[in-house]
This record gives sequence, structure tokens and C-alpha cells, in this order.
Amino acid sequence: MIDWLMEKHGVEFELVTGFLYPGHSRLRMHGPKSRTGADLEQALLAAVSNAGIDLITGASVEDIYADASGRVVGVRCRRSDGATEDLGCQALILACCGFAGDAQMVRQYITEIADAECCGHLSNTGDAVRWGTALGAATADMGAYQGHGSVAHPHSLPLTWAVITKGGILVNTNGQRFSNEMRGYSEHGAEVAAQPDHIAWDIFGAPGHEAAEGFYDYRELRKLGAVKMADTLEALSEVTGLPLSYLKAEFSAIEEAISAGKPDRFGRNFAENDVLKPPFYAVKVNGALFHTQGGLVIDDQARVLRKGGEPLPNLFAGGGAARGVSGDSNYGYLSGNGLLTATTFGRLAGISAARIAEAADA
Ligand SMILES: Cc1cc2nc3c(=O)[nH]c(=O)nc-3n(C[C@H](O)[C@H](O)[C@H](O)COP(=O)(O)OP(=O)(O)OC[C@H]3O[C@@H](n4cnc5c(N)ncnc54)[C@H](O)[C@@H]3O)c2cc1C
Repeated sequence: MIDWLMEKHGVEFELVTGFLYPGHSRLRMHGPKSRTGADLEQALLAAVSNAGIDLITGASVEDIYADASGRVVGVRCRRSDGATEDLGCQALILACCGFAGDAQMVRQYITEIADAECCGHLSNTGDAVRWGTALGAATADMGAYQGHGSVAHPHSLPLTWAVITKGGILVNTNGQRFSNEMRGYSEHGAEVAAQPDHIAWDIFGAPGHEAAEGFYDYRELRKLGAVKMADTLEALSEVTGLPLSYLKAEFSAIEEAISAGKPDRFGRNFAENDVLKPPFYAVKVNGALFHTQGGLVIDDQARVLRKGGEPLPNLFAGGGAARGVSGDSNYGYLSGNGLLTATTFGRLAGISAARIAEAADA
């Protein structure tokens, strides 16, 4: 997928090096130089434009229409000036993600994250699930989602989990750790949201800071004053307002676990060079919901399947609109699974839909 986007469509990616994402055993993550979604989106838009494909971005689809056999014949959309328009189609791909922007659906399917901030696109309100099920489509894994336990508060910018994998920790506003942070950032969306005031602090040292410097969002957070620095634990307590006695206790507990060569009380194995040394860095964060991964069941051609398993005639889905590959909960989300399903399912859906359109034009 990465090769195809780079070689055929001129989208620039580089391998993210310097740290491993939680659960990864090899360097696999690719992203634009800045590591931002905005740059990736711009590159994809340019590729669409270079391919001569018409794209309407200022309209919202309100409904889809199908004949008695379930064949989709068109959509109704509303332009930004309020005008509605009906567009016919030979095939339809649902690429409108999941339901993270619909508070009611989130509460219904994933109660544990319902009180967390939604950091995904707020227009992702479950339309694919609604339209698909109205046509008899099956859904699955509705409890799956990508959470994040490290979104700078109140700035709403993600702080890379590299600060954790490089020895950093999370403490709540009492100055106490509450989990094995190495389980991953998705699991920590709900963990952090469950802490007092839904808040935690990321505390890390120079290795975490250096790894994070490669991320545009982190550099922005520094400019915004979100990254606090301290040379002693006393100063760290002062800049964060975290109780010194608890901070000291947590730092000692980690050092004891390291010198005993044992996992800590949460089961985290700290490496010897993970001992947090000054200068200390701290960022206040909250737990967030990024996107949902449960959705319409599709096959290997990205065809949306009915409850009985047979495909609908010309309806396809990819990305968060379709059931993903993360299982039915938050802990199945492995870094990259979001864009993986968006790009690979999307490509499969494009190939399948093009086949139908070409046959109709022939
Ligand atoms: C802050 C953040 C960081 C992330 N970082 C990573 C990462 O590092 N790696 C990774 O793999 N994944 C990451 N993800 C997840 C990744 O962004 C998503 O998995 C991916 O964007 C989903 O793609 P999609 O095309 O299904 O939906 P989206 O990219 O969300 O796009 C859906 C689009 O559909 C539009 N839409 C919705 N309803 C309608 C309608 N009725 N009519 C018209 N348009 C509609 C929305 O406005 C939106 O533009 C991150 C997500 C967030 C929020």
C-alpha cells in the first residue's frame, strides 16, 4: 500500500524510527515528515487532483437511495449554502468513518469511553452503519475503537506515546500511577478518562523529549507552553501541582523495581536506562476517543455483506465505516490500524467499484 501510494501517486512517506510503537516488534510505521494527519490529507488530495478525479468536500450526504434489490442508485447531499442535490451512482463506497461523533451511539456501544473527549472528526456520526443496516447489512465488533491516553489538555493535540515508550510514566492528579503504560495508548483513553477530573500527567525525561521532537504536534505544544520542565522533583511538583510525597514514592518504586530486576506493581518491565533523570518534562493530558472501528461487515473485495453473508449488489465500505481488524474492544487497536483499514480497504473498495462502473460504461 505504502509503495503504491509513493510510486504511483507521489505521496511522500518516511519510516518512523527512533522508537517502537506499543506492541510493535519492528519499525513499521510510516508517515509524512511532519508526522501530521494534515500533511497526509494534503498529499492524498493532491493525488486525487492529479488523477483528474472530481471531489466535492463542501457537501454532506443526508441519505442514500436503493431499489428493491438493495442496489444503491444515488445519494442526496446538502451543500454548504443549504441547497440539496441528488446524485446518481453505479456503485457507492462508504468512507464516512464510524460513529465517534455521535454521543448517543458511543454511549450505546462503548460506554467506557462515552465521557471522554472526541478528538476525531465530529461529522463522523455513524451514517454508514445507519444506511447499511437499513439495507439489511450486518455489523460487527461495535465495541472496537482507537482511544488515546495522552492528548494535551486543554490544547487537544496528541502527545506521542514515544514519551512513554522511552521510559515516561502517567500519574493522576494525586501524583499516583494507575496502570502499566506499556499496554498502549488506545487502552489508556478510558484509563485516563476514569481518573479524577479525567486528567493525568505524562512525565518523561530527555529520551522521551528527544523522540517527541520529531513530531510537529509536540513542537507546537512546546510553543504553547504545554510542556513543563523541571530540574528536580521539588520543581516538578511545583510546576505541575502534583503532591511531592506521591511523586517521590512513585519514582522510588520504579527504581526499586529496576534494581530488583522485576516488573513493577502493574506488571511493567522498566529497562535499566528507563530511570527518569532530570531534566524532567511534564504535559497535562486527558483521555480521548479518536475513532470507532466497529461497523459494516465487508468481504475481501470490500463488498458490504448482508446478515446472511451475501454481498449487497454495489455497496462498498472502507476505513472506520467498515468493521476493522482490531477485535471488539480498545486493546486490539495496534498503532497504524486506523490508516491501515482506511487505505487498504479503501483501495479494495475502489477497485471493486471501478469494475462495476467500467462494466456499466462498456
Ligand atoms: C488525532 C488522531 C490521530 C490519529 N493518528 C493515527 C495514526 O497515527 N495512525 C493511524 O493509523 N491512525 C490514526 N488515527 C486514526 C485515523 O485517522 C482514522 O482511522 C482514519 O482517518 C479513518 O479514515 P476514514 O476515511 O474511515 O475516516 P476519516 O478520515 O475520519 O474521514 C471521514 C470523512 O467523512 C466525512 N463524513 C462523515 N459523514 C459524512 C456524510 N454524511 N456526508 C459527507 N461526508 C461525511 C467526515 O467529515 C470526514 O471528512 C488518528 C485519528 C485521530 C483523530
